[in-house]
Amino acid sequence: MKYLVTGGAGFIGSNFIEYILDKYNNIDVVCLDALTYAGNLENLNEVKNNKKFKFVHGDICNESFVDQLFEAENFDMVINFAAETHVDKSIVEPDIFFTTNVIGVRILLDACKKYNVKRFHQISTDEVYGEISLDNLNYKFDEDSPLKASNPYSASKAAADLLVLSYFKMYNLPVTISRCSNNYGKHQYAEKLIPLTVKNVLHHNKAIIHGNGKYVRDWIHVLDHCNAIDLILKFGSVGEIYNVGSNNQKQNLEVVTAILEVLNKSTSIIDYVENRPGQDTKYAIDYNKISSKLGYVPMYKFDEEINNIVTWYKNNLEDIIV
Ligand code: NAD
Repeated sequence: MKYLVTGGAGFIGSNFIEYILDKYNNIDVVCLDALTYAGNLENLNEVKNNKKFKFVHGDICNESFVDQLFEAENFDMVINFAAETHVDKSIVEPDIFFTTNVIGVRILLDACKKYNVKRFHQISTDEVYGEISLDNLNYKFDEDSPLKASNPYSASKAAADLLVLSYFKMYNLPVTISRCSNNYGKHQYAEKLIPLTVKNVLHHNKAIIHGNGKYVRDWIHVLDHCNAIDLILKFGSVGEIYNVGSNNQKQNLEVVTAILEVLNKSTSIIDYVENRPGQDTKYAIDYNKISSKLGYVPMYKFDEEINNIVTWYKNNLEDIIV
């Protein structure tokens, strides 16, 4: 069995490659990554000498290159993590988001169709559903919730999801999609809340909060996400979307406070700055479908894991400085 993991030098993709190579000895993994500012070969240190692993430097938007790679490698499964992922960047530079997140996906889908790949799995996000108002305490997104993306990043991911489903309907391409909530874990680029806060505290003795810190994200350990993807690849039904979460909604202020506790710092070093445009107020995800149909159970608890994660960033800060 051979997997193509695109975007595997990034945060979640690199964790997924480690997870798969640790768990199985009958899967070969090829990682295709353009090494944008968010991709880092150091994220692949644990697997780079594994005989079942190969790294290929390249862009999913380069159609002839992708075609040659598919012809040469004969992939069984393609798991697409490659994307531009930073909401703030998408607001000032939307072009690259639609190039990679939509056109790149179209190129991968056409290659899967041409070379009869057994599964194309698209890594999507709960952000395609838009936001929930803060006073709406009970609502959670399920797979039938309407797509109400509110910034160019989430709009590009929603567009890709529709494109992927259209290849199932039009060409019977065996596709699946997972829509996951906010991941925490090692290897995340230091533009996102957890590594950025560790970096700011250690370098500037400041923790930045945009707005009042009351916005809510639904946090999941990256290894629970990897397990969910593995279950979908093995047991998921083609043409289906699976939400992935961990029932762990936290205000940004709670997350920053937890990080400060690990670093032995007082909340007095929090600097409240102007809110950023394009930030959704709240996400909360209903993942009953993957639990009931595929037996998914999240294993990790944020309050128990945050110490390990912050310590990992503290020890690896030099590699993640931006
Ligand atoms: P990331 O920004 O850490 O990594 C993205 C990777 O894609 C990088 O290694 C980058 O070099 C590579 N890449 C970008 N453009 C490329 C191109 N044109 N060709 C080949 N490689 C390219 O992202 P992440 O946080 O690991 O997210 C991975 C996927 O998961 C994305 O699709 C994202 O939308 C989705 N997702 C992320 C989260 C989260 O909390 N981080 C939550 C839900 C869904």
